[in-house]
Amino acid sequence: MKAAIIKGLGEMSVETIETPHIKDGTVLIRVKTCAVCGSDIRIFESGNDRVKYPAVIGHEIAGEVVEVGAGVSRFKKGDRVAVGADVPCGVCDWCRHDMGNCCDENFAMGYQFAGGYAEYCLLEPLVVKHGPVAKIPEGVSDDEAALAEPLACCINGLERAQMQAGKSVLIIGSGPIGTLLVALAKAYGAASVAIAERNPQRLELAKVYQPDQLILSSQEDLRDRVNELTGGKGVDIVVTACANTEAQEEALGLVAKRGVINFFGGLPKGSCKISLDSNLIHYRECSVTGSHGSVPRQHKLALDLIAGGKIDVRKIISHSFPLERIAAGFKTVKSLAGMKVVIKP
Ligand SMILES: [Zn+2]
Ligand SMILES: [Zn+2]
Repeated sequence: MKAAIIKGLGEMSVETIETPHIKDGTVLIRVKTCAVCGSDIRIFESGNDRVKYPAVIGHEIAGEVVEVGAGVSRFKKGDRVAVGADVPCGVCDWCRHDMGNCCDENFAMGYQFAGGYAEYCLLEPLVVKHGPVAKIPEGVSDDEAALAEPLACCINGLERAQMQAGKSVLIIGSGPIGTLLVALAKAYGAASVAIAERNPQRLELAKVYQPDQLILSSQEDLRDRVNELTGGKGVDIVVTACANTEAQEEALGLVAKRGVINFFGGLPKGSCKISLDSNLIHYRECSVTGSHGSVPRQHKLALDLIAGGKIDVRKIISHSFPLERIAAGFKTVKSLAGMKVVIKP
């Protein structure tokens, strides 16, 4: 089979390698779509402790089951499946209580397990048993199903932010995640959703999900705008969907009393110290939380939201490349030229 092999930092080539063999408890899928995540670019450029070379990465996967190993009853040949990233170990306290993304083992597709930038992907027994593998509902395309993974992360983000209908929401950063968060907050019945972004072209892209307010934060003062929009009250939920220390620091001045800030976007290692006015947290009784990844329940819910027409993820798919041109796909993501890039092995 053809696969994109990463051999070292910034070193990737598409080669022919042996197709993985089916074993007991495994499922072999023919990959139809693997969407590019910002974290793929980080692994490619900076490496990751959980990724050993040579590696096949990619964790936003949709495909079709071509073979199942002995003992597998959940899936059969011909099933269309979507596969997400975080794989609960199934035994630790976190995993047993629906918090598998917090598992100490932290297994994931495209990390310890070979990912989707290949013609075939073997789902290991642990993935089949506990992982985010769900049948694709009828009417949902492979490209849409692959995006269930980033949408699941957004679901986790808004769950951590205690999202409920009627709340006001501000998203900072209008990349694919920030944009999806706008769509999700609206689907969850937000009273208002604003998105702030410094790059005017990027902000323009966020219009696909019709946020109530677009704030160009390189030109207008974010705090003034939020005060003006909320009568000085602040917003109920602020999600920072960017890797920016200033955005995190600023968020505390934007949130309402008893509001929640979610640091969705992680900061680069070594530059993650920020300073917060802790009295704002104390007197305003607001909460600061984080979120990363998702659990299988959220991946399934993401597929259902897509299937039910609640969120049209096709709106953010801007580019499609064959596997041979995966390097061009990565470049497109890096250049911020589009939104979601899908690779078709
Ligand atoms: Zn992802
Ligand atoms: Zn675990």
